[in-house]
Order: sequence, then structure tokens, then C-alpha cells
Amino acid sequence: MLNAEKIRQDFPILNRQVNGKPLVYLDNAATSQTPQQVIDVIVDYYANYNANIHRGVHTLSQEATDKYEEARHIIQKHFNAKHAHEIIMTAGTTHGINLVASGFTNILQKGDEVLVSALEHHSNIVPWQMLCQKTGATLKVIPMNTEGELLLTDYEALLSEKTKLVFVNHISNALGTINPIEYIINKAHKVGAAVLVDGAQACPHLKADMQALDVDFYVVSAHKMCGPTGVGMLYGKEKWLSKLPPYQGGGEMISEVTFQKSTYADLPHKFEAGTPNICGGIAFGAAINYMNRIGFSEIAAYEHELLTYATTELQAIDGLKIYGTAKEKTSVISFNIKGIHPYDIGTLLDKMGIAVRTGHHCAQPIMNFYQIPGTVRASFAFYNTKKEVDALVAGVKKAKMMLS
Ligand code: PMP
Repeated sequence: MLNAEKIRQDFPILNRQVNGKPLVYLDNAATSQTPQQVIDVIVDYYANYNANIHRGVHTLSQEATDKYEEARHIIQKHFNAKHAHEIIMTAGTTHGINLVASGFTNILQKGDEVLVSALEHHSNIVPWQMLCQKTGATLKVIPMNTEGELLLTDYEALLSEKTKLVFVNHISNALGTINPIEYIINKAHKVGAAVLVDGAQACPHLKADMQALDVDFYVVSAHKMCGPTGVGMLYGKEKWLSKLPPYQGGGEMISEVTFQKSTYADLPHKFEAGTPNICGGIAFGAAINYMNRIGFSEIAAYEHELLTYATTELQAIDGLKIYGTAKEKTSVISFNIKGIHPYDIGTLLDKMGIAVRTGHHCAQPIMNFYQIPGTVRASFAFYNTKKEVDALVAGVKKAKMMLS
């Protein structure tokens, strides 16, 4: 079993105090914390081999290029992509989704349909709405039930030969629901539709296998899995990435440029215009290595224990309602207390050193479904402890008393 107390020693930030109290960091779904092993890699890059990549003949540039491409291979191996050139380094999940949506501008036509799930983050809704506005395609919604699970019979009824794209998250950031993406992908492929899976919330909890899933596109952000912000991965099947046009023009992504015409570089560089987040990419690889050393099955088992414990303890509080009670869910608990605004609970918890998120969690359609302005969201990582769950429960009880 995973030793959280020992693991916590890797995370310097977990030693700090907030408002005079030990930090209890339960906002992991927004961003995870960074272990010293990853911080060291960032420092080493700037202290020893900071240089622009791919173009340089000098030693520093070659060292930086080697490390950056090594990171691409670490990512490829972790997500089990068939080819390293199917891994596009991005600025994060949002960037990856926009890249794909933009690429479909000349592929989608009026009369085509695209399906989005009711459980999506705004970044997996808005780019597709923009795409539909440009192309005349129609956006349809896969509905959910009150537990926060997608209605698969309705999904199947929505699928037809008109369906060109389906986008769904692997795990909902607002509710923690783990979606049956294998099933969703399989059904979509039967009608010839491509599927983009937003893996932003899945990547810290489980290892997604691109080839086994047979997914067309999969996007993640490094900062959700112990890496830095502003870097992420777009996985795309070679056949799709070859078909899509470049997203941005600039250096790095070209083969030849004249004033009459330019030709584009091969994959993956065709989608990587300009100087990338070199240090971030290298640190992303280090973060994946760090998490794999701990082990994803150990992480999943431990987090499940935390989730079960926290759910039981929170549910015992009178007037507290948990949103998102799917059978398959990860360590995210969204809740409200009758008659109290989530923001007020979040503010009081912060005074006690407890970091949670309040609001709509960039998922307003989910809040509209439940007819609430937002929730308090506590999200747990493998470095959280039962003692921290106890602090949360005590904090919520105290906040409730003060606000009722
Ligand atoms: N999708 C989901 C499910 C998310 O949780 C997030 C981050 N909250 C995003 C997309 C966007 O990720 P980023 O801001 O790193 O681009």
C-alpha cells in the first residue's frame, strides 16, 4: 500500500502554512502539486542547458533537443501510442482541443452532426460550438442522469451516419464520474465518427492506453499530473493528424518557405509552430516518470479509499448533499449545504488552511442541470491523507455552524 506520509516529503509546498494553519490542499482537480524531483528537473534545465531546440548545432541546443524528444518518448510510452509522432506537445488540454476543432473546419459540412456530453468542461464545449458556427454542423448533447452518469441508450439513439465527431471527457472535473469511454468510442466508430476524449481529469488517476482504447484524439494537461502549467499532450491517430491542416503557422512547423508558398514539416512538427515550452515538456516527462514510480494501480487503490472515507464522513453532516454519485467515480466530491452559498464555505475553509474550489468548475451546463449556482469541490490526490479528510469534515461542520 502506498505510503502517503512518506510521499508527502517529496512535495515542499505541503509543508507551508496558510492563514497560520497547516495547508490542507484539496484542489487537486484544478491543479496538482509538484514534487521536488520535478522541480529539480526545471532548475537543472535553466541552470545547465537552457537553449532553443531543433535548430542549433551547439551542444546546449542538442542537449535540450535530446531531453525534449526524450520527454515525447516518455509520454508516448506512458499513453501507449503507436508512434512518437502521434504525440503533439501542446500548451495543455484547451490548446489540444482547439487544435483539433480548428482542423475540422474544412472537413465538417452543413448537415453534419457532432455530439458533446452533458458532463463537459467548457473547454470541451466552446471550441466545438465555434466550429459548428463556422461550418453549419449541428451540436447535439448526450444527456445525463441525476447520479451524473451519461445515458448510453440516448447516446446510441443520437448516433447516425450524420455523426462525424463525438467529444467526451474520460472523467468529469465537476462530479468525478468515470465515463465508459471504451463503449462510447466503439459505438461512435460503428457509424464512422471520430472521438476526442478529454483526459485532463483522468491522467492523474489512471493510465489510458491509446491503442487499446482505439481513440482518435486524447488530450491532457501536465499540471494535472504533477507537472508544470502551460504544457500538455494531444495524442492523435496518425491517419487523422496527417489529414488535419496545421493549426498555427510559424517557425519549426515548415519544410520550405517562399513568398509564393510554404510546405509543412512532417508530424509532429507540423502542429508545433514556434518555440515550445521546452522546460515544461521536459518536466512533463519527469512528472510521468515520478507518478509511474509510485504506480497507478497503487494510486487508484489509495485514492478510492480516501474517496470512500470522505464520502461517508461528509454524508453524515446534516443538510449536506453530494452531487455526482456515479458507480464509477474518482476522488472528487462536489457538495452543498442547504441554505449556504458554496463560496462562503470555501472562504471559511481557506481561513482554516483548507484549499477547496467553489463555483461552477467551468461546467455551467452541469450546474444548470442541478439548478444550483455552484458547489464546493474537494478533490483528493495520492499525497492527501485521512487526517486531511478529517480536517475537511471538521472544517465544514464549523463553517456550517458559523453560517447557519
Ligand atoms: N477539461 C477538463 C475536464 C478539465 O478539468 C480542465 C481543467 N480544469 C480542462 C479541460 C482544461 O485544462 P487546461 O486549463 O489545462 O487547458
